[in-house]
Amino acid sequence: MAADLEAEVQAIDKNLLECSAEEIAVKWLQANDLQKEVYQHLAYYVPKIYCRGPNPAPQREDMLAQHVLLGPMEWYLCGEDPAFGFPKLEQANKPSHLCGRVFKVGEPTYSCRDCAVDPTCVLCMECFLGSIHREHRYRMTTSGGGGFCDCGDTEAWKEGPYCQKHELNTSETAEEEDPLVHLPEDMVARAYNIFAITFKYAVDILTWEKENELPGLEMIEKSDTYYCMLFNDEVHTYEQVIYTLQKAVNCTQKEAIGFATTVDRDGRRSVRYGDFQYCDQAKSVIVRNTSRQTKPLKVQVMHSSIVAHQSFGLKLLTWLGSVIGYSDGLRRILCQVGLQEGPDGENSSLVDKLMLYDSKLWKGARNVYHQLFMSSLLMDLKYKKLFAIRFARNYRQLQRDYMEDDHERAVSVAALSVQLFTVPTLARMLITEENLMTTIIKTFMDHLRHRDIQGRFQFERYTALQAFKFRRVQSLILDLKYVLISKPTEWSDDLRCKFLEGFDAFLELLKCMQGMDPITRQVGQHIEMEPEWEAAFTLQMKLTLVISMMQDWCALDEKVMIEAYKKCLTVLMQCHSGFTDGEQPIVLSMCGHSVETIRYCVSQEKVSIHLPVSRLLAGLHVLLSKTEVAYKFPELLPLSELSPPMLIEHPLRCLVLCAQVHAGMWRRNGFSLVNQIYYYHNVKCRREMFDKDIVMLQTGVSMMDPNHFLMIMLSRFELYQIFSTPDYGKRFSTENTNKDVVQQNNTLIEEMLYLIIMIVGERFSPGIGQVNATDEIKREIIHQLSIRPMAHSELVKALPEDENRETGMESVIEEVACFKKPGLTGRGLYELKPECAKNFNLYFYHFSRAEQSKAEEAQRKLKRQNREDTALPPPALPPFCPLFASLVNILQSDVMLCIMGTILQWAVEHNGYAWSESMLQRVLHLIGMALQEEKQHLENLSEENVVTFTFTQKISKPGEAPSNSPSILAMLETLQNAPHLEVHKDMIRWILKTFNTIKKLRESSSSSPVVETEGNIMEESSRDKDKAERKRKAEIARLRREKIMAQMSEMQRHFINENKELFQQTLEELDTSTSGVHENSPVISDAKLTALGPEQTRVAEPRQVVMCILCQEEQEVKVDSRAMVLAAFIQRSTVLSKNRNKITPDPDTEKYDPLFMHPDLSCGTHTGSCGHIMHAHCWQRYFDAVQAKEQRRQQRLRVHTSYDVENGEFLCPLCECLSNTVIPLLPPPRVLFNRLDFSSQPNLTQWIKTVSQQVKALHLLRNEDCASHSGHSEKMDQLQLPEGFRPDFKLKNPYSESIKEMLTTFGTATYKVGLKVHPNEEDPRVPIMCWGSCAYTIQTIERILADEDKPLFGHLPCRQDDCLTSLTRFAAAHWTVSSLSAVQGHFCTLLASLVPNEKNGNLPCILDIDMFHLLVSLVLSFPAIHCQDFSGVSLGTGDLHLFHLVTMAHIIQILLTSSTEENGMDQENTNSEEEVAVLTLYKFLCQCTGSALKEISSGWHLWRNLKAGIMPFLRCSALFFHYLNGVPAPSEIQVNGANQFEHLCSYLSLPNNLTCLFQENSEILNPLIESWCNNNEVKRYLEGKRHAISYARESNKLIDLPDDYSCLINQASNFSCPKSGGDKSRAPTLCLVCGTMLCSQSYCCQTELEGEDVGACTAHTYTCGSGVGIFLRVRECQVLFLAGKTKGCFYPPPYLDDYGETDQGLRRGNPLHLCKERFKKIQKLWQQHSITEEIGHAQEANQTLVGIDWQHL
Ligand SMILES: [Zn+2]
Ligand SMILES: [Zn+2]
Ligand SMILES: [Zn+2]
Ligand SMILES: [Zn+2]
Ligand SMILES: [Zn+2]
Ligand SMILES: [Zn+2]
Ligand SMILES: [Zn+2]
Repeated sequence: MAADLEAEVQAIDKNLLECSAEEIAVKWLQANDLQKEVYQHLAYYVPKIYCRGPNPAPQREDMLAQHVLLGPMEWYLCGEDPAFGFPKLEQANKPSHLCGRVFKVGEPTYSCRDCAVDPTCVLCMECFLGSIHREHRYRMTTSGGGGFCDCGDTEAWKEGPYCQKHELNTSETAEEEDPLVHLPEDMVARAYNIFAITFKYAVDILTWEKENELPGLEMIEKSDTYYCMLFNDEVHTYEQVIYTLQKAVNCTQKEAIGFATTVDRDGRRSVRYGDFQYCDQAKSVIVRNTSRQTKPLKVQVMHSSIVAHQSFGLKLLTWLGSVIGYSDGLRRILCQVGLQEGPDGENSSLVDKLMLYDSKLWKGARNVYHQLFMSSLLMDLKYKKLFAIRFARNYRQLQRDYMEDDHERAVSVAALSVQLFTVPTLARMLITEENLMTTIIKTFMDHLRHRDIQGRFQFERYTALQAFKFRRVQSLILDLKYVLISKPTEWSDDLRCKFLEGFDAFLELLKCMQGMDPITRQVGQHIEMEPEWEAAFTLQMKLTLVISMMQDWCALDEKVMIEAYKKCLTVLMQCHSGFTDGEQPIVLSMCGHSVETIRYCVSQEKVSIHLPVSRLLAGLHVLLSKTEVAYKFPELLPLSELSPPMLIEHPLRCLVLCAQVHAGMWRRNGFSLVNQIYYYHNVKCRREMFDKDIVMLQTGVSMMDPNHFLMIMLSRFELYQIFSTPDYGKRFSTENTNKDVVQQNNTLIEEMLYLIIMIVGERFSPGIGQVNATDEIKREIIHQLSIRPMAHSELVKALPEDENRETGMESVIEEVACFKKPGLTGRGLYELKPECAKNFNLYFYHFSRAEQSKAEEAQRKLKRQNREDTALPPPALPPFCPLFASLVNILQSDVMLCIMGTILQWAVEHNGYAWSESMLQRVLHLIGMALQEEKQHLENLSEENVVTFTFTQKISKPGEAPSNSPSILAMLETLQNAPHLEVHKDMIRWILKTFNTIKKLRESSSSSPVVETEGNIMEESSRDKDKAERKRKAEIARLRREKIMAQMSEMQRHFINENKELFQQTLEELDTSTSGVHENSPVISDAKLTALGPEQTRVAEPRQVVMCILCQEEQEVKVDSRAMVLAAFIQRSTVLSKNRNKITPDPDTEKYDPLFMHPDLSCGTHTGSCGHIMHAHCWQRYFDAVQAKEQRRQQRLRVHTSYDVENGEFLCPLCECLSNTVIPLLPPPRVLFNRLDFSSQPNLTQWIKTVSQQVKALHLLRNEDCASHSGHSEKMDQLQLPEGFRPDFKLKNPYSESIKEMLTTFGTATYKVGLKVHPNEEDPRVPIMCWGSCAYTIQTIERILADEDKPLFGHLPCRQDDCLTSLTRFAAAHWTVSSLSAVQGHFCTLLASLVPNEKNGNLPCILDIDMFHLLVSLVLSFPAIHCQDFSGVSLGTGDLHLFHLVTMAHIIQILLTSSTEENGMDQENTNSEEEVAVLTLYKFLCQCTGSALKEISSGWHLWRNLKAGIMPFLRCSALFFHYLNGVPAPSEIQVNGANQFEHLCSYLSLPNNLTCLFQENSEILNPLIESWCNNNEVKRYLEGKRHAISYARESNKLIDLPDDYSCLINQASNFSCPKSGGDKSRAPTLCLVCGTMLCSQSYCCQTELEGEDVGACTAHTYTCGSGVGIFLRVRECQVLFLAGKTKGCFYPPPYLDDYGETDQGLRRGNPLHLCKERFKKIQKLWQQHSITEEIGHAQEANQTLVGIDWQHL
C-alpha cells in the first residue's frame, strides 16, 4: 500500500513538473474571466499537490506549489520572468525608513526610558545597536512573539527615531508621495487583478465552513479521503492530549508527543488519514475521552481537498507578504484590495472578514494573516489609518469574540490594539472620529454585568470560567491605557467634546464601583466564609493608572477641567443622594462650638473601601488648586455647591474603618478585610485610594470650621463622649473594668491623632503644598532610606510607577543618597545623605507600622551616634497652596487644644490605663508641628500681614472653667521632669526651646530686638548642668551594660561548646583547631629535605590526638586502636576532562578495566571532605539513626530530602555538608612495611631486573596454582626464585579490626561511586579505584593552586590538607584488606606497560597513559610484592626507582607529543648543559621512530617545553610523596618564587637536569625507549593518523561569557529546538562547562536515561559532567546547578545591572553586564567540586527546592 502510494506520488510529481509557469501565465493574460481561469487551475492542481497522505511533506509541497501554482502568478504579475522582474521592482523601490521587523519569541527588545513615547515602543537588537539610545537609560526585555520594531516611526520616539541603517532612507522621502507612481500602469492593473483573486481565494477558503463543497471551486475528484483534525485548546494539558491520542489513534507515545507538540504550535494537526468512517471513529474516541471534566477537545473530520486548499490558502498569504516586500507600490495595492468593500457593504472587505472570523481560526492561520497585516497595513501610513478605523468600528465585536475564544491574547487579532492605539495621532483621531474612548469603556461595561440592587458591581465567588473571562476583560483597561498614554498638546473642540463624553462613560463605570463590596462589622460569631474581595481590588488596581491619566488629561485644558469637575461632583451627589434621608440629625457641641451631623457608626453600619468617585473629585480639586481659574474666576466653579460634610463623610468612614481594624474591633471579619486594608495602603493602589482620602479630608477642613470638622471626626471615631464630657475619660477608665475596651479606645485616640498629623503634614503634592513634583519623590526616597539603606530595586518597588513604568527616582536620587557598590555577594545599596535626616518625619503617611518603628529606631540610633539629643521633632514644612491655606488653623482650634490638653492632663496624672505613651508622643508631635508653623509664619512675615496663627499664646493660657486645668505649657513643664517619661524628655525639651525662640521672634517683630534676659541664660545654664549630669549617668549605665554583655558572651562560648548545632558560625575556628595537631611536628633543621627514596628525610611522626565531634571524646590515632573517620564525599568528575564526548564503556560488565587512566582524564573520581572527625562506631550509630528516621519520614510524608540515604548519603552532623562515606584516619602507613635495608641498594637497572624476575616467578606460580588442580607439574623445579623472594609468605595485617572494616567501607564506596556499580568489596577493581581517586584528587588540587598562582604547599585550607593526608594514607593501606594476588597482578600489569614482558600483551601505549595515575598505582601496589621480598632492598628504593622510571616515560611522552614550533622568538643562545642533553635525547628518539618525528634543532625550545610540560606532574608527585611519607616541604616551595623547578627536583630526589636520568640508566633505558616507540599506536600517531594529548594540559575553564547579557538573549533567540524542526525553544539553557545550548524543560527534548524520562539538561549532565552540571537559563537569567536526577538549585547569575543587582527572571530589564569576579566564584565552585555541596546547602536552607522535579529541566 505504502509503496503504491509512493509510486503514485512520483508519477503525479513528474506530470506536475512538466507544467510551464510561463505558458499558464500567458493563458491568464489573454483570459476574459481571469478569476475563472485561476480558480480552475487551483481546483485542479491544489489537491494534487497538498494532502497526499497521512503526514505532511512540506518540502515536496512547497517545491511543487512554487512551480505549478505560485510560479504562474509571479509570471503574470511581472509580465516577464520573475527572476528578472522582482529584482527590478526592488531596485525601483525606495527602501523603507521603517524597520518593522516582527519579533520572534524570546528575541531581545529594547526600549529607551528617556526617548520612547511609551514603554510599548521598542527596537530590535540591530536597530538598537545602531541608535543613539544605547547611550541612554534603556530597558531590555524578551519579546513574547508578535509585535514589531518601531525604528523609523517618528511618533514613537521623542528623539532619535532612526537607527543608522534606517536613517539613510529618510533623506529623499517626500512624506505623502503616492508609491504607485513608481510602478508601470499595466503592472498596477495586473497586480490589482491577481491580488484581488488570490487574496479573496485565501480568505474564502480559510473562513469556509461547509464540509463537502468548496467556495467557487469545483471538486475535481471526489475521493473518499478524509483527515481527522485535532485542534488546540488551552484547557487540556499536554499529558491529557498525549494519553488520549495513544488511545484514539493507536500511536506510540513518541508519535503522540509529536502530534501534541504540533497542535500546540500550529493550532491543529491531522492525527488520522483515511476514509470518513475511519476518521470519524477516531474523532468519537477523542471526544469521549476528553469530555469528562471539561469541554471535549475540538476534533473535526475534514475532506482532504478542503484541507489541501486551506494549506495553499495559507501559503498564498505568506506569498503575498513576501511579494509586497519588493515594492511599496505593491504593498499599497494589496492594502487597497484588502480594505475594498465587497458587494455586501459594511464589514465585507477581506480584512474585515478575516478579523471577524479570527476567533474561529486555528492558531497557525491566525499567525500567518496577522503577520501579513503587520507587513502590509501597518507598514503603510495611509492604510494604517484606514485599518485603524476598521478596527475601531469592529472593536465591540472583536472583543466579544475574544471573550469567547480560549486562545492566548497574543494570537488574537484583538492584540493588534497596541500597534494602533499607541500611535498618538491615530489614538487622537480614533477618539474624535470614532469616539473610541467611549466605545472601549462601554464595551468594558458590557462585559461586567453582575450588579447589586443599587447598580454597583457585585463580584460573587468566581468559577474558573468567570475568573478566566474577568482576566480577559481586563485587557480592555489596557486598551484604554494605550489610548490615553500620550497626552494631547493641542485641544480641538471635537477632542474636548469626545473626551468629555468618554469621561462621562468613565464616571458611569466608577459609579458602579463607588461603595461596592460593602462590609458590616461582625460581632459575636466569626464570619463563616471569607467574602470575595479580590476581583474588586483587581479592578481598582488595573484602573489606578487610567484614573491618574484621566486627571492628567483634564489638567491640560482649563475648559475640560472645569467641565470634568462639575460632572464628577454631579455623579458624587447622585451616589450620595439620600445621604441624610430618614436620619434624625444630631447636634454635637464642645468648647462653645456646635455642629449638626448625622447619626452613623462605622462599627455598626455598612461601610465600603471603594470610593473612586470621591477620590477622583479629590484629585481634580488638587489640580484646580494648581490652576489660576480657582483664584481668578471662582464663579466658573461649582464651589458653592460643595457641602464639605458630604465630601468628607465617606473617606472619613473608610479611614475610621482602618483605625478600628487596627484597634482589633473587626477581628471576626477574617482575613479578607485585613487584605483589603493592606492593599488600600499598598504602593500599587494608594495613589488613587488612601492618598486621595487624605486629600479629601484636607479639602474638607480647608472649607469648614476646623472645630466642626474635629467634632465630626471625634464622632465618627466614636470618641466624642470621651473628649466632650469633662473627666469622662478618667471616670470611664476607672469604672470600666473591661481592659480590652479601654485598650481599644486608646488605639482609636492614637489613630485619630495620627490622622490629624497626616492631614496637616502631608502637603508634598503639587497643588496641596507649594512644592514641585521632584519634592514629592525626594521625600518618598528620604523616608524609605530612613528605614535602612536599600538596593535600587527595593526602592523602585517602594515607589509608585507611572504609566511609563517610571518612578522618577533617577533624577533625584543623587541629591538625597550615596551609592555603595556591592562586594562578591549581596547588592549595591543607597544610603541616605546625613544632611537629609532633618527632613525625616516619624509620622510619614506611607510608612507601615513596622517600617515606622524601624525608622524610628534607626533615626534615634543615628542621633545617638552623632551625640545629639534623640528628639525626632517634626520637620519644617512647605506652605500650603492658597486653596488649602486655612487648613493649618485646625492646630490652634479650640477643640484641638482641648484634645491636647486632655491627653496631657492624663499624662500628668499618670494613673489608670486610659492613657498611652504613643498618645503623648503624637500630641507632642502635633504641638511641635504647630510651633514650626508659627515660627515659619513669623519668619516670612511681611509688613501688611498680621500673624493670625497664635498657638504659643493659646497654650500659655490656663484651661477654662469648670475644670480649671493648668495651661498646656505648664503641663509640658511638669512632664519634663516626670520620671516615667524619660524617652520623651528630649522632645519636650525641644518644644520648650522652640517655644522660647518664637517668643523672642514675636518680641523682636513687635518691638526692638530683645537682648537675652538674665533669666533665660540662667535657665539655659541650669539645663546644661542637668544635661551633663544625665550624660554622666548614661556613661555609667553604658559601662555596666558592657560588662554584662562580656559576661554573657563568655557564657555563650560555653554554651556553644556544649551545643554543636549552634556551632556553625564558628566552624572556621574549629577547622584550625582539629588540624592544629599536625603543626606540632618537630622542627626539622634546614638541611635538604627529600620526600622519598633511601635518602628520604626521616621524620618522627607526632602523636596525633583528635576529638570525635559526636561524643566529644579524644583519642589517639594508632594502628591498633578504634578507627577514627572523616566525613567524605566521593563523586565522579569530568572537571579535568579533555574529551567530553568520550563514551565510557558500561562498567557493569566485568570486562571494563580502569587500571590505566587515559591522559584525557575524561572521567575521574574525586574525594572531598569537610574535615570533621568522628569515631567509626559513633558515625555508624549516627548513620543508622538517620537511615531509620528517613525511612519513617518517607513513609509518612513521601517527601524527598536533600540527600539520598539509600545511596549512603548523609549530612555531616556538625556542618551539614553532604557526605556519602567516611575515610579512616591512619598513621603513616609506610613505616609499617619498611624493613631493615641491610644490603646495598641496587641501581635502577639491577632493580628492574630483580623485580622482573619476581614478576615472572609470580606468573609461573599463578599458572602453577591453576595447573595443580589437574596434576603435578614440573615447572616448580624450573622456577628459580630470586634471592630472598618468598611468595608463600603471608603478611599479618597490622590494623585493628575496626580500621580494617573502615578500609573496606571506604574502598567499596569509592568503587561503587567511581564506577556507578553495585558495591562488591571482593571485586579486584576496588583497589584500582582507590588509587585512582587519590591520584585524581591530587591532580585537581594541583590545578586549582596553579590557576590561582598559589604556592604548592602551605596554602591549602585545613580541611583539604586533612582530606589529602587521609586519602593518601588510606590508598596506601588499602592493599592490606584486598586480595594479595589481585594487587600483585595489578602491579605486574602496570609495570608491564613500561617494562614489557611476554605475558602482558595489548597494553595501552605510553601516549595513552596518564603518568601520574600510573605512578600512584605503581607506588601503592608495590608493597604487595615487596612484602614478600626479604633480600634487604628497602621499600624506599623501590619508590625511587618507580618514580624515576615513570618520570622518564613521561619525558618521552612529552617529547613525542610536543608541538614545538621553532619560531626563534627571544631564544637565548646559551647552549646550557640541559639543552644539549635534551637535544641528544631528542635525536635518539628520532632514530627510534625512524625519523617520523619532526626535526627540531633548538635545544632551548625543547628544554623549555619539557620543563613546562613536566611541571604539573612534578608538583602532583611532590604533593603525593609529601602526604605519603610525611616529609615537610622545603620552605622554598611554600612560597612563590624563582627556581621552583630546582627545589621541586631536589625534594623529589631528581637531578636538576632531568635528562641525566637517561644517561645514568642508558643500559636499560635505551631498549625500553625503543620498545615504547615501536608501538603501533605511537607509529600511527607519528604518521598523523591519530590524535594524542600534549603537555602541559591546560586547565579547564568555564566558557567565556559576553559582557553584555543581551548578546546571550539574542544567541538564545536564534537557537531552535534540535528535535522539533526549527521550532523556537521555550527555555534555552546554556551549559557553562562546554557551551552547548539546550532546549530545557520541554517535552520535545526529553530523553530516556536509565529507564526514566529526563529533560535535556539532566541528560546533558550525564555526558558532559558525569551527573553534575552548571547551566545558565538564558530567559530567566539564572544559574542552575544540577547533580544527579534529584538534586538541583538555582544560583545568582554572574550578571549585574548598574546598581549592582542581579535580575533573576529578567523582570526589571535594566542592562546587565558580566561581573567577572562573580563568574570566577562559580568557576571555582566547579573546579573545587563543590557544586553538589552547594546544592545540598541550598536545599537544606530552602525546603521548596527539594520538591522541584529537577530531572525534567
Ligand atoms: Zn529594527
Ligand atoms: Zn532601524
Ligand atoms: Zn533614547
Ligand atoms: Zn565518638
Ligand atoms: Zn563537617
Ligand atoms: Zn556541557
Ligand atoms: Zn526541544
